[in-house]
Parts: sequence; C-alpha cells; structure tokens
Amino acid sequence: MKVRFWGVRGSIPAPGPETNRYGGNTSCVSITTATGGLVIIDMGTGLMHLGATLMASAFGKGAGRAAILLSHTHWDHIQGLGFFPPVFVPGNEITLWGPGGSDHVLEGILEGQMDPNFSPLQTLKNFSASFEIRAVQVGVPFEVQGLTVTARLHPHGGTSALAFRLEEAGRVFVYASDVGYADGVPDAESIAFYRGADVLLHDTTYKPEDQATRRNRGFSAYDEACAAARAAGVGRLVTFHYDQDYTDDDVDGIVASCRALLAGTAIEVVPAREGDELAI
Ligand SMILES: [Zn+2]
Repeated sequence: MKVRFWGVRGSIPAPGPETNRYGGNTSCVSITTATGGLVIIDMGTGLMHLGATLMASAFGKGAGRAAILLSHTHWDHIQGLGFFPPVFVPGNEITLWGPGGSDHVLEGILEGQMDPNFSPLQTLKNFSASFEIRAVQVGVPFEVQGLTVTARLHPHGGTSALAFRLEEAGRVFVYASDVGYADGVPDAESIAFYRGADVLLHDTTYKPEDQATRRNRGFSAYDEACAAARAAGVGRLVTFHYDQDYTDDDVDGIVASCRALLAGTAIEVVPAREGDELAI
C-alpha cells in the first residue's frame, strides 16, 4: 500500500502562511494498492486536489474506479465531495462506504449536503459518474479494491466515527481519527483494533492543555495517540487532524512531543503532511 496525504487538518480548512508546511486542507488520504487499486479515506477539502490529480489518469476518460471510506459526516470529512471532478465524468465508478447503518440513511445525509440551500449542485443525482452509497456493517470484514477492510465505531463527542483497518498481503494500515476516549484513556477494544498495525494513523488534534478545556468535542490529544500506539505495539504512528488554530510551529511541537513520549520504543513517529507519501 502507498498512503498519500491530501488533507491533514481538523474541523475547518486553515490555509495561510502559518500552515503552509503541513497544509491547511481537511481530512483526505488516498491508498494505492499493490495492484493499482484506489481507496480514498474521507472527503475533506483535500479531496479536491486528489480529484484534480486523478483527472490526468483514467478518471479523466471515464474509466476510473475507486472506493471511498467515510469515517463520519462532519463538515471536515465531506466538504470536498462536490468539488471532486471525477464524479462529473460519465463512466467513472465510485463506491462510497460509510456510517449510518443503512444505505438509505447514509444517502439521505449526503443528499442533505447537496440541498440548494448549501450547494448549487442541488442533488447527488447531478453526478454523471456512477456513485454508489453503501453503509458499512461494523465489525464485518469486506473487500474494496483488493483490500480487506474492517470498520469499528469509536466515540466522537456527541456522536461516533468509524475507524478502518485495511489489510493487504499481511500489511496493515489503521485509520483512527476523530476519537475521543472516555476519560482520555484508549480502551481495550480500540487497542485490540489497532494491534500490530504497521502504520496507525491517529488524530493528534490537540495539545493536552488545550484538550483539557475541549474534551466534549471528541478528539484526542497527542499523548493519547502515543499511549494507543504503545499499547497496540504498532510500527509507525502517523500524527493527523491538527487543530485549525495550530500553526506549523505548533505541529512541529506536537511531533517532537510524540517522539519524546515514544523514545525508547521501536515506534517511529511520522507527521502527516500534505503531499507526503508513505509506503507500507
Ligand atoms: Zn474531523
């Protein structure tokens, strides 16, 4: 698997000179499989840039195939959808897997985003590509683009979000963003889900001192991500979903703090940064 970061910011896009190095786009990650398949996780504003890049490939000719895994439907995970050029090319086939419990409920939520009060697109039916919407069955492995995917629900403030465990030929990538553990302690079920991953991408939304006043928002501070990585014995921890108010220097500090917390372990800390690619 090759993982590429298109948006690494949380909650709302944060472009500007102080966020240029890590990037200001919201959550979007692509995975290219060993056999050339494409899986996209989350549809934040980073999806727009991924889409522009894809238009130079089969997606520009109406022959593209991709799967999208959607963790949850907060703005910073869906706002790129209407700006993803491949959906406007007839012949492309895109399947979206996400939360909601039923295909109908999930489609209704995403239709709401396209309502004329929010978007000139008016309805998902204006997409020219095939755009199939499927609700994930939590805990039941399924195949997308040659990867085996398992999803689980974790707490996210007043709601929940899906974490995804992707496996290909013995390699494991776990995407666990927007998770707010009860009392700030990663629970046993979460640790079991992350166990032995080659790469764990985990939100490091906050510094602990900022999270202390915002715990009900349902995000992790970097020390919780490190605790989860250590308990699960992962190979690499990817920091992700940085708070919109943090500058690049703040993110440098988060990454350095993670490295200090995990010093003496075999866990490598890799900061998610727009445009970077990671081989697993
Ligand atoms: Zn988010």
